Amino acid sequence: MARIVMKFGGTSMAGSERIRRVANIVRRQQAAGHEVAVVVSAMAGETDRLVNFCREANPLYDPAEYDVVVASGEQVTSGLLAMTLQALGCKARSWLGWQMPIRTDDAHAKARIEDIDSQALLASMAAGEIAVIPGFQGLSHDGRVTTLGRGGSDTSAVAVAAAIGADRCDIYTDVDGVYTTDPRIVAKARKLKYVTYEEMLELASVGSKVLQTRSVGLAMKEGVRVQVLSSFIDDDATPADEIPGTLIVSDDELEGLDMERQLITGIAADKNEAKIILTRVPDRPGAVATIFGPLAAANINVDMIIQNVGRDKGETDVTFTVPGADLLRAQTLLEAQKEAIGFNRIITDGKVAKISVVGVGMKSHAGVASTMFRALADRGINIQAISTSEIKVSVLIDEDETELAVRVLHSAYDLDAESEAA
Ligand code: ADP
Ligand code: ASP
Ligand code: MG
Repeated sequence: MARIVMKFGGTSMAGSERIRRVANIVRRQQAAGHEVAVVVSAMAGETDRLVNFCREANPLYDPAEYDVVVASGEQVTSGLLAMTLQALGCKARSWLGWQMPIRTDDAHAKARIEDIDSQALLASMAAGEIAVIPGFQGLSHDGRVTTLGRGGSDTSAVAVAAAIGADRCDIYTDVDGVYTTDPRIVAKARKLKYVTYEEMLELASVGSKVLQTRSVGLAMKEGVRVQVLSSFIDDDATPADEIPGTLIVSDDELEGLDMERQLITGIAADKNEAKIILTRVPDRPGAVATIFGPLAAANINVDMIIQNVGRDKGETDVTFTVPGADLLRAQTLLEAQKEAIGFNRIITDGKVAKISVVGVGMKSHAGVASTMFRALADRGINIQAISTSEIKVSVLIDEDETELAVRVLHSAYDLDAESEAA
Protein backbone atom coordinates (compact mmCIF):
# COMPACT_ATOMS: atom_id res chain seq x y z
CA MET A 1 0.00 0.00 0.00
CA ALA A 2 1.21 3.47 -0.83
CA ARG A 3 0.07 6.92 0.19
CA ILE A 4 -0.54 8.98 -2.92
CA VAL A 5 -1.40 12.58 -3.72
CA MET A 6 -3.13 12.98 -7.08
CA LYS A 7 -3.51 16.49 -8.52
CA PHE A 8 -5.87 17.30 -11.38
CA GLY A 9 -5.60 20.55 -13.34
CA GLY A 10 -8.26 22.81 -14.81
CA THR A 11 -8.77 21.05 -18.14
CA SER A 12 -9.16 17.73 -16.33
CA MET A 13 -11.86 19.24 -14.08
CA ALA A 14 -13.78 21.18 -16.75
CA GLY A 15 -17.34 19.88 -16.51
CA SER A 16 -19.26 16.96 -15.05
CA GLU A 17 -18.13 14.45 -17.65
CA ARG A 18 -14.45 15.13 -17.03
CA ILE A 19 -14.91 15.15 -13.28
CA ARG A 20 -16.46 11.68 -13.62
CA ARG A 21 -13.38 10.55 -15.54
CA VAL A 22 -11.17 11.96 -12.78
CA ALA A 23 -13.29 10.23 -10.13
CA ASN A 24 -12.76 6.95 -11.92
CA ILE A 25 -8.99 7.39 -12.01
CA VAL A 26 -9.03 8.20 -8.29
CA ARG A 27 -11.32 5.30 -7.44
CA ARG A 28 -9.03 2.85 -9.22
CA GLN A 29 -6.03 4.05 -7.21
CA GLN A 30 -7.94 3.52 -4.00
CA ALA A 31 -9.18 0.14 -5.18
CA ALA A 32 -5.53 -0.81 -5.77
CA GLY A 33 -5.12 -0.46 -2.00
CA HIS A 34 -3.64 3.01 -1.77
CA GLU A 35 -4.49 5.84 0.62
CA VAL A 36 -5.46 8.75 -1.57
CA ALA A 37 -5.59 12.53 -1.24
CA VAL A 38 -6.70 14.49 -4.29
CA VAL A 39 -5.87 18.13 -5.00
CA VAL A 40 -7.99 19.89 -7.62
CA SER A 41 -7.88 23.06 -9.70
CA ALA A 42 -10.83 25.20 -10.70
CA MET A 43 -12.43 24.37 -14.05
CA ALA A 44 -10.34 25.60 -16.99
CA GLY A 45 -11.01 29.29 -17.68
CA GLU A 46 -12.78 29.86 -14.36
CA THR A 47 -9.90 31.58 -12.57
CA ASP A 48 -9.36 33.89 -15.57
CA ARG A 49 -13.07 34.74 -15.49
CA LEU A 50 -12.91 35.55 -11.78
CA VAL A 51 -9.74 37.65 -12.20
CA ASN A 52 -11.56 39.67 -14.86
CA PHE A 53 -14.42 40.39 -12.49
CA CYS A 54 -11.88 41.73 -9.98
CA ARG A 55 -10.32 44.00 -12.60
CA GLU A 56 -13.74 45.28 -13.62
CA ALA A 57 -14.67 45.97 -10.01
CA ASN A 58 -11.47 47.93 -9.35
CA PRO A 59 -8.36 47.98 -11.57
CA LEU A 60 -6.27 48.51 -8.43
CA TYR A 61 -8.10 45.83 -6.47
CA ASP A 62 -7.27 44.86 -2.90
CA PRO A 63 -5.33 41.55 -3.16
CA ALA A 64 -7.05 40.22 -0.02
CA GLU A 65 -10.46 40.61 -1.67
CA TYR A 66 -9.08 39.21 -4.94
CA ASP A 67 -8.22 36.06 -2.99
CA VAL A 68 -11.77 35.79 -1.66
CA VAL A 69 -13.04 35.86 -5.24
CA VAL A 70 -10.52 33.65 -7.05
CA ALA A 71 -10.31 30.93 -4.37
CA SER A 72 -13.95 30.12 -5.07
CA GLY A 73 -13.21 28.22 -8.31
CA GLU A 74 -11.45 25.43 -6.44
CA GLN A 75 -14.13 25.29 -3.75
CA VAL A 76 -16.64 24.37 -6.44
CA THR A 77 -14.57 21.60 -8.05
CA SER A 78 -13.54 20.03 -4.72
CA GLY A 79 -17.18 19.70 -3.67
CA LEU A 80 -18.18 18.36 -7.08
CA LEU A 81 -15.42 15.75 -7.11
CA ALA A 82 -16.29 14.59 -3.58
CA MET A 83 -19.94 14.20 -4.65
CA THR A 84 -18.99 12.35 -7.82
CA LEU A 85 -16.77 9.96 -5.86
CA GLN A 86 -19.64 9.35 -3.46
CA ALA A 87 -21.88 8.58 -6.44
CA LEU A 88 -19.37 5.90 -7.43
CA GLY A 89 -19.67 4.37 -3.98
CA CYS A 90 -16.47 5.79 -2.48
CA LYS A 91 -16.19 7.51 0.87
CA ALA A 92 -14.95 11.05 0.17
CA ARG A 93 -15.03 14.54 1.65
CA SER A 94 -13.65 17.95 0.80
CA TRP A 95 -11.16 19.82 2.99
CA LEU A 96 -11.08 23.55 2.27
CA GLY A 97 -7.84 25.44 2.84
CA TRP A 98 -9.13 27.03 6.06
CA GLN A 99 -10.50 23.73 7.37
CA MET A 100 -7.27 21.72 7.39
CA PRO A 101 -5.84 24.40 7.68
CA ILE A 102 -3.15 25.15 5.09
CA ARG A 103 -1.37 28.04 6.77
CA THR A 104 0.35 30.63 4.58
CA ASP A 105 2.03 33.99 4.96
CA ASP A 106 0.03 37.18 4.37
CA ALA A 107 1.24 37.92 0.81
CA HIS A 108 -2.20 37.87 -0.79
CA ALA A 109 -2.40 36.62 -4.39
CA LYS A 110 1.06 35.04 -4.08
CA ALA A 111 1.09 33.55 -0.60
CA ARG A 112 3.62 30.94 0.52
CA ILE A 113 2.59 27.84 2.42
CA GLU A 114 4.17 27.74 5.87
CA ASP A 115 2.55 24.78 7.50
CA ILE A 116 -0.16 22.16 6.96
CA ASP A 117 -1.98 20.59 9.83
CA SER A 118 -2.44 17.08 8.46
CA GLN A 119 -3.58 15.13 11.53
CA ALA A 120 -7.31 15.10 10.84
CA LEU A 121 -6.66 14.50 7.16
CA LEU A 122 -4.49 11.46 7.88
CA ALA A 123 -7.04 10.04 10.27
CA SER A 124 -9.79 10.34 7.68
CA MET A 125 -7.61 8.82 4.95
CA ALA A 126 -6.69 5.93 7.22
CA ALA A 127 -10.42 5.33 7.70
CA GLY A 128 -10.78 4.82 3.95
CA GLU A 129 -12.07 8.28 3.09
CA ILE A 130 -10.69 9.99 -0.02
CA ALA A 131 -9.58 13.53 0.89
CA VAL A 132 -10.44 16.10 -1.76
CA ILE A 133 -8.50 19.33 -1.31
CA PRO A 134 -9.05 22.50 -3.32
CA GLY A 135 -5.67 23.62 -4.60
CA PHE A 136 -4.43 27.21 -4.74
CA GLN A 137 -5.91 28.33 -1.40
CA GLY A 138 -4.76 28.76 2.17
CA LEU A 139 -5.32 30.70 5.37
CA SER A 140 -3.28 33.74 6.45
CA HIS A 141 -2.06 34.51 9.97
CA ASP A 142 -4.99 36.83 10.52
CA GLY A 143 -7.54 34.28 9.41
CA ARG A 144 -8.16 35.46 5.86
CA VAL A 145 -8.31 33.39 2.67
CA THR A 146 -5.12 33.50 0.61
CA THR A 147 -4.16 32.16 -2.82
CA LEU A 148 -0.78 30.92 -3.94
CA GLY A 149 -0.31 32.63 -7.30
CA ARG A 150 -1.48 31.38 -10.69
CA GLY A 151 -0.92 27.69 -11.21
CA GLY A 152 -0.67 27.30 -7.42
CA SER A 153 -2.56 24.01 -7.17
CA ASP A 154 0.65 22.22 -8.12
CA THR A 155 2.25 23.72 -5.03
CA SER A 156 -0.73 22.75 -2.87
CA ALA A 157 -0.33 19.17 -4.09
CA VAL A 158 3.39 18.98 -3.37
CA ALA A 159 2.93 20.64 0.03
CA VAL A 160 0.19 18.17 0.98
CA ALA A 161 2.40 15.31 -0.24
CA ALA A 162 5.24 16.54 1.97
CA ALA A 163 2.95 17.07 4.96
CA ILE A 164 1.42 13.57 4.85
CA GLY A 165 4.67 11.86 3.88
CA ALA A 166 3.22 10.63 0.56
CA ASP A 167 5.13 8.10 -1.47
CA ARG A 168 4.24 9.93 -4.69
CA CYS A 169 2.71 13.13 -5.98
CA ASP A 170 1.13 12.52 -9.37
CA ILE A 171 0.35 15.69 -11.33
CA TYR A 172 -2.34 14.81 -13.86
CA THR A 173 -2.74 17.36 -16.63
CA ASP A 174 -3.77 17.72 -20.26
CA VAL A 175 -0.42 16.62 -21.73
CA ASP A 176 1.26 13.31 -20.97
CA GLY A 177 4.49 14.68 -19.53
CA VAL A 178 7.09 17.42 -19.66
CA TYR A 179 8.29 18.11 -23.20
CA THR A 180 11.32 19.86 -24.65
CA THR A 181 8.97 22.80 -25.20
CA ASP A 182 5.23 23.44 -25.09
CA PRO A 183 3.83 20.72 -27.38
CA ARG A 184 0.99 23.07 -28.25
CA ILE A 185 3.48 25.45 -29.87
CA VAL A 186 5.90 22.97 -31.42
CA ALA A 187 4.40 19.76 -32.80
CA LYS A 188 7.88 18.27 -32.93
CA ALA A 189 8.48 18.72 -29.19
CA ARG A 190 9.83 15.55 -27.54
CA LYS A 191 8.58 14.08 -24.29
CA LEU A 192 11.23 13.84 -21.59
CA LYS A 193 11.24 10.64 -19.57
CA TYR A 194 13.16 12.30 -16.77
CA VAL A 195 13.98 15.87 -15.91
CA THR A 196 16.05 17.01 -12.94
CA TYR A 197 14.58 19.22 -10.21
CA GLU A 198 17.08 21.93 -11.10
CA GLU A 199 16.14 21.94 -14.78
CA MET A 200 12.42 21.76 -14.07
CA LEU A 201 12.77 24.61 -11.58
CA GLU A 202 14.43 26.76 -14.19
CA LEU A 203 12.01 25.74 -16.97
CA ALA A 204 9.02 26.49 -14.76
CA SER A 205 10.43 29.82 -13.64
CA VAL A 206 10.80 30.98 -17.23
CA GLY A 207 7.30 30.04 -18.32
CA SER A 208 6.80 26.27 -18.76
CA LYS A 209 3.53 26.39 -16.95
CA VAL A 210 3.18 22.60 -16.82
CA LEU A 211 4.33 22.95 -13.17
CA GLN A 212 4.29 26.04 -10.96
CA THR A 213 7.84 27.06 -10.03
CA ARG A 214 7.24 26.94 -6.30
CA SER A 215 5.94 23.38 -6.52
CA VAL A 216 9.24 22.26 -8.00
CA GLY A 217 11.32 24.14 -5.43
CA LEU A 218 9.27 22.62 -2.64
CA ALA A 219 9.49 19.10 -4.10
CA MET A 220 13.25 19.50 -4.36
CA LYS A 221 13.57 20.72 -0.79
CA GLU A 222 11.24 18.12 0.71
CA GLY A 223 12.33 15.24 -1.53
CA VAL A 224 8.80 14.69 -2.89
CA ARG A 225 8.63 12.26 -5.79
CA VAL A 226 6.72 14.08 -8.53
CA GLN A 227 5.58 12.74 -11.85
CA VAL A 228 3.62 14.52 -14.57
CA LEU A 229 1.10 12.46 -16.52
CA SER A 230 -2.11 12.76 -18.52
CA SER A 231 -5.60 12.52 -17.06
CA PHE A 232 -6.98 11.92 -20.54
CA ILE A 233 -6.71 8.16 -20.38
CA ASP A 234 -9.25 5.44 -21.04
CA ASP A 235 -11.04 3.78 -18.19
CA ASP A 236 -9.22 0.52 -18.90
CA ALA A 237 -5.77 2.12 -19.30
CA THR A 238 -2.67 1.02 -17.41
CA PRO A 239 -2.79 2.05 -13.74
CA ALA A 240 -0.98 5.27 -12.87
CA ASP A 241 1.85 3.35 -11.24
CA GLU A 242 2.90 2.15 -14.68
CA ILE A 243 2.04 5.14 -16.84
CA PRO A 244 5.07 6.55 -18.60
CA GLY A 245 4.80 10.22 -17.73
CA THR A 246 7.79 12.37 -16.82
CA LEU A 247 9.52 11.73 -13.53
CA ILE A 248 11.37 14.54 -11.79
CA VAL A 249 14.65 13.17 -10.47
CA SER A 250 17.73 14.39 -8.66
CA ASP A 251 21.02 14.90 -10.49
CA ASP A 252 22.41 11.75 -8.89
CA GLU A 253 19.44 9.66 -9.91
CA LEU A 254 19.78 10.87 -13.48
CA GLU A 255 23.44 9.86 -13.55
CA GLY A 256 22.39 6.41 -12.31
CA LEU A 257 19.91 6.16 -15.16
CA ASP A 258 22.81 6.57 -17.50
CA MET A 259 20.97 9.08 -19.65
CA GLU A 260 22.85 10.88 -22.32
CA ARG A 261 22.74 14.54 -21.38
CA GLN A 262 21.52 16.94 -24.02
CA LEU A 263 23.12 20.36 -24.10
CA ILE A 264 19.68 21.98 -23.94
CA THR A 265 16.84 20.32 -22.04
CA GLY A 266 14.05 22.63 -23.02
CA ILE A 267 12.79 25.96 -24.29
CA ALA A 268 10.11 28.06 -22.63
CA ALA A 269 8.14 31.16 -23.50
CA ASP A 270 6.51 33.59 -21.11
CA LYS A 271 4.05 36.15 -22.39
CA ASN A 272 3.16 37.37 -18.93
CA GLU A 273 5.97 39.87 -18.55
CA ALA A 274 5.75 43.56 -19.21
CA LYS A 275 8.54 45.99 -19.95
CA ILE A 276 9.05 49.34 -18.23
CA ILE A 277 11.53 51.98 -19.38
CA LEU A 278 12.38 54.96 -17.21
CA THR A 279 14.16 57.58 -19.26
CA ARG A 280 16.81 60.01 -18.10
CA VAL A 281 17.35 58.64 -14.61
CA PRO A 282 20.22 60.44 -12.80
CA ASP A 283 23.40 58.35 -13.25
CA ARG A 284 24.54 58.38 -9.61
CA PRO A 285 24.85 55.99 -6.67
CA GLY A 286 21.50 55.13 -5.12
CA ALA A 287 19.37 55.98 -8.16
CA VAL A 288 18.58 52.36 -8.99
CA ALA A 289 17.85 51.58 -5.34
CA THR A 290 15.21 54.35 -5.36
CA ILE A 291 13.48 52.63 -8.26
CA PHE A 292 13.53 49.04 -7.05
CA GLY A 293 13.07 49.63 -3.32
CA PRO A 294 9.39 50.63 -3.55
CA LEU A 295 8.68 47.82 -6.03
CA ALA A 296 10.17 45.25 -3.67
CA ALA A 297 8.23 46.70 -0.75
CA ALA A 298 5.04 46.25 -2.80
CA ASN A 299 5.95 42.60 -3.47
CA ILE A 300 6.47 43.23 -7.20
CA ASN A 301 9.11 40.95 -8.66
CA VAL A 302 11.51 42.54 -11.09
CA ASP A 303 13.08 40.14 -13.55
CA MET A 304 15.30 41.39 -16.38
CA ILE A 305 17.12 44.68 -15.78
CA ILE A 306 19.20 46.77 -18.16
CA GLN A 307 20.81 50.02 -17.30
CA ASN A 308 21.81 51.64 -20.55
CA VAL A 309 25.15 53.32 -21.07
CA GLY A 310 24.96 56.77 -19.54
CA ARG A 311 23.71 59.60 -21.72
CA ASP A 312 25.17 63.06 -21.63
CA LYS A 313 24.57 65.14 -18.54
CA GLY A 314 24.94 62.20 -16.15
CA GLU A 315 21.67 60.52 -17.11
CA THR A 316 20.78 56.98 -18.09
CA ASP A 317 17.73 54.94 -19.21
CA VAL A 318 16.72 52.00 -17.02
CA THR A 319 14.73 49.14 -18.59
CA PHE A 320 13.26 46.24 -16.63
CA THR A 321 10.44 43.71 -16.65
CA VAL A 322 7.72 42.95 -14.10
CA PRO A 323 4.85 40.43 -14.19
CA GLY A 324 2.13 41.73 -16.55
CA ALA A 325 -0.41 41.45 -13.73
CA ASP A 326 1.62 43.94 -11.67
CA LEU A 327 2.25 46.46 -14.46
CA LEU A 328 -0.44 48.95 -13.50
CA ARG A 329 0.52 48.79 -9.83
CA ALA A 330 4.22 49.24 -10.67
CA GLN A 331 3.49 52.16 -12.98
CA THR A 332 1.34 53.88 -10.36
CA LEU A 333 4.01 53.40 -7.70
CA LEU A 334 6.80 54.72 -9.90
CA GLU A 335 4.80 57.74 -11.01
CA ALA A 336 4.18 58.56 -7.36
CA GLN A 337 7.97 58.46 -6.84
CA LYS A 338 8.81 60.50 -9.95
CA GLU A 339 10.41 63.35 -8.05
CA ALA A 340 12.41 61.11 -5.75
CA ILE A 341 13.73 58.95 -8.58
CA GLY A 342 14.15 61.90 -10.91
CA PHE A 343 13.26 60.19 -14.19
CA ASN A 344 11.86 62.01 -17.18
CA ARG A 345 9.35 59.62 -18.76
CA ILE A 346 7.91 56.20 -18.07
CA ILE A 347 7.28 53.98 -21.12
CA THR A 348 5.50 50.64 -20.72
CA ASP A 349 5.02 47.73 -23.11
CA GLY A 350 2.87 44.72 -22.24
CA LYS A 351 3.35 43.13 -25.66
CA VAL A 352 6.65 41.41 -24.98
CA ALA A 353 7.63 37.78 -24.46
CA LYS A 354 10.57 36.20 -22.73
CA ILE A 355 12.06 33.21 -24.51
CA SER A 356 14.49 31.03 -22.56
CA VAL A 357 16.68 28.04 -23.30
CA VAL A 358 17.51 25.85 -20.31
CA GLY A 359 19.95 23.00 -19.78
CA VAL A 360 22.50 21.84 -17.23
CA GLY A 361 24.79 20.97 -20.15
CA MET A 362 25.32 24.72 -20.53
CA LYS A 363 27.50 24.76 -17.42
CA SER A 364 30.30 23.08 -19.33
CA HIS A 365 29.70 24.29 -22.90
CA ALA A 366 30.33 27.66 -24.47
CA GLY A 367 28.39 29.01 -27.42
CA VAL A 368 24.81 28.37 -26.27
CA ALA A 369 23.93 32.06 -26.19
CA SER A 370 25.54 32.83 -29.53
CA THR A 371 23.59 30.00 -31.21
CA MET A 372 20.44 31.59 -29.82
CA PHE A 373 21.28 35.12 -30.97
CA ARG A 374 22.30 33.91 -34.45
CA ALA A 375 19.16 31.77 -34.94
CA LEU A 376 16.90 34.67 -33.94
CA ALA A 377 18.83 37.18 -36.05
CA ASP A 378 18.51 34.92 -39.12
CA ARG A 379 14.73 35.20 -38.78
CA GLY A 380 14.85 38.95 -38.22
CA ILE A 381 13.72 38.69 -34.58
CA ASN A 382 14.91 41.64 -32.54
CA ILE A 383 16.22 41.13 -29.00
CA GLN A 384 15.17 43.83 -26.53
CA ALA A 385 16.86 42.50 -23.38
CA ILE A 386 19.01 39.56 -22.32
CA SER A 387 19.57 37.78 -19.02
CA THR A 388 21.50 34.65 -18.15
CA SER A 389 22.06 32.22 -15.29
CA GLU A 390 24.33 29.20 -15.01
CA ILE A 391 21.85 26.96 -16.84
CA LYS A 392 19.67 29.45 -18.75
CA VAL A 393 19.74 32.19 -21.37
CA SER A 394 16.66 34.42 -21.75
CA VAL A 395 15.81 37.09 -24.28
CA LEU A 396 12.95 39.55 -24.44
CA ILE A 397 11.25 39.91 -27.84
CA ASP A 398 8.04 41.19 -29.41
CA GLU A 399 5.13 39.03 -28.26
CA ASP A 400 3.93 38.49 -31.85
CA GLU A 401 7.14 36.59 -32.60
CA THR A 402 6.87 34.14 -29.70
CA GLU A 403 5.80 31.02 -31.58
CA LEU A 404 8.26 31.62 -34.41
CA ALA A 405 11.14 32.13 -31.98
CA VAL A 406 10.38 28.96 -30.02
CA ARG A 407 10.17 26.86 -33.21
CA VAL A 408 13.36 28.32 -34.62
CA LEU A 409 15.29 27.67 -31.41
CA HIS A 410 13.88 24.17 -31.01
CA SER A 411 15.39 23.30 -34.39
CA ALA A 412 18.58 25.28 -33.80
CA TYR A 413 19.40 23.14 -30.74
CA ASP A 414 18.46 19.88 -32.52
CA LEU A 415 15.56 19.18 -30.21
CA ASP A 416 12.99 18.32 -32.92
CA ALA A 417 11.56 14.81 -32.69
CA GLU A 418 12.10 12.52 -35.68
CA SER A 419 8.45 12.51 -36.67
CA GLU A 420 5.61 14.92 -35.92
CA ALA A 421 3.69 12.17 -34.16
CA ALA A 422 6.25 11.99 -31.35
P1 ADP B 1 -3.24 22.24 -15.48
O1 ADP B 1 -4.53 22.95 -15.71
O2 ADP B 1 -3.37 20.75 -15.55
O3 ADP B 1 -2.50 22.71 -14.27
P2 ADP B 1 -1.57 23.86 -17.17
O4 ADP B 1 -2.31 24.50 -18.30
O5 ADP B 1 -1.22 24.67 -15.99
O6 ADP B 1 -2.37 22.56 -16.76
O7 ADP B 1 -0.22 23.17 -17.71
C1 ADP B 1 -0.27 22.25 -18.78
C2 ADP B 1 0.09 22.98 -20.07
O8 ADP B 1 1.45 23.39 -19.98
C3 ADP B 1 0.05 22.13 -21.31
O9 ADP B 1 -1.23 22.11 -21.86
C4 ADP B 1 1.06 22.81 -22.21
O10 ADP B 1 0.44 23.62 -23.18
C5 ADP B 1 1.86 23.71 -21.28
N1 ADP B 1 3.31 23.53 -21.36
C6 ADP B 1 4.21 24.55 -21.44
N2 ADP B 1 5.44 24.08 -21.53
C7 ADP B 1 5.37 22.74 -21.49
C8 ADP B 1 6.34 21.69 -21.55
N3 ADP B 1 7.66 21.95 -21.64
N4 ADP B 1 5.90 20.41 -21.49
C9 ADP B 1 4.58 20.14 -21.37
N5 ADP B 1 3.62 21.09 -21.34
C10 ADP B 1 4.00 22.38 -21.39
N1 ASP C 1 -7.00 27.81 -10.68
C1 ASP C 1 -5.72 28.44 -10.42
C2 ASP C 1 -5.19 29.06 -11.70
O1 ASP C 1 -5.82 28.95 -12.74
C3 ASP C 1 -4.73 27.51 -9.79
C4 ASP C 1 -4.36 26.30 -10.61
O2 ASP C 1 -5.11 25.92 -11.52
O3 ASP C 1 -3.31 25.71 -10.34
O4 ASP C 1 -4.16 29.68 -11.68
MG1 MG D 1 -1.23 24.38 -13.96
